[in-house]
Amino acid sequence: MDRIRKCAVSNICGGCQLQDLDYSEQLNYKQQKINQLFNKIIEPKTIIGADDPYHYRNKVQVAFGYEKKRVICGNYVESTHRIVEIKDCQLANQKANEIISDIKNLAVTFKIPIFNEYNYQGCLRHVMVRLSETTGQIMVILVTGSYVFPRKKDFIKSLLKKQPQITTIVQSINNRHTSMVLSDKFEVWYGKGYIEDKLNNLFFRISPTSFYQVNSKQVIKLYDCAIKAAKLKKNEIIMDAYCGTGTIGLSLAKAVKKVIGVELNKDAIRDAKINAKNNQITNAEFICADAGNYMQKMAAEKEKIDVVIMDPPRAGADNKFLNALVKLRPQKVIYISCNPYTQKGNINYLLKHFYKLESIQPVDMFPFTEHTETVAVLKHI
Ligand code: SAH
Repeated sequence: MDRIRKCAVSNICGGCQLQDLDYSEQLNYKQQKINQLFNKIIEPKTIIGADDPYHYRNKVQVAFGYEKKRVICGNYVESTHRIVEIKDCQLANQKANEIISDIKNLAVTFKIPIFNEYNYQGCLRHVMVRLSETTGQIMVILVTGSYVFPRKKDFIKSLLKKQPQITTIVQSINNRHTSMVLSDKFEVWYGKGYIEDKLNNLFFRISPTSFYQVNSKQVIKLYDCAIKAAKLKKNEIIMDAYCGTGTIGLSLAKAVKKVIGVELNKDAIRDAKINAKNNQITNAEFICADAGNYMQKMAAEKEKIDVVIMDPPRAGADNKFLNALVKLRPQKVIYISCNPYTQKGNINYLLKHFYKLESIQPVDMFPFTEHTETVAVLKHI
């Protein structure tokens, strides 16, 4: 891999912690970290790297602000609300970078007041772009502090003239003091209000707040690892815990008897149900619930689950979930994690409850950052 292209603002932004390493060094660094973390339990497999480590993010968001009365947009400097202006982020999809730059220029032309976090006045606060390289669909979400958006119709027309590939534009009204970018108040200004992505020959609908893996190329490799490791059989019942829009469960549904997906975000569950229907999958059921609560209910009812595939957020699974998991006693647990530290804690719990760790496979889903995804395979003894 060539020597890295140094980003102009990398020192201030903090988004790319591994900026100074070339890509093979980054992989080496991540491998060592995972090896050290798990060395007492198992020898991890060789990390699966990306073919192209640049411009992989299919979801890009920026904050808007003023710098000496000039409109700027970019990332917050870590742990602050100071914006570092970013013009061509090397992690972001390039089309998303272009769209964001056009929106910034239009905001200046249309004199859109930028939201002020101190007095809650103003309008444009953040922009999020979500896109699919496989279907070409692009969603722009304009996060505003007010309902009113000056000259909205002309703004939309000008944006679409510059970027005709945009398929939907949504407004999210967020005037609260919060670090969440999107609120739950949305207005669809143009198009369907969601995008679709094609993954593993299935179509997935993605709503503004639904979780969807940000690196579309690497996710194919990640899911492939998890699904192959599960060595599924036609008569098995699979639990897809923390299922998001149902991507993992639906990718494997045809190979098994039944899939049960559980997820907390109601929009993601609505997407998952629609995704099952649109892909003519009839043996998948999706439940909106806390995964720990739902697993406990299943354990109390002595339901039979053959394989649990779990993919919790960074905090890992809670005790309620783990407790119910060992009661349900699936033969296999495939644990996908974006935080190997909490994953290790959870694995230690399972090792004390009749599971053995068969493998750990690191996958680089986030080049240039500290983060590494890992797939652990556990078997009941
Ligand atoms: N497996 C999915 C999503 C993984 S991200 C995929 O690959 O796309 C983790 C998901 O867990 C998010 O969708 C989040 O909304 C969900 N989540 C967070 N806390 C949860 C909880 N307590 N119970 C169920 N789902 C939860």
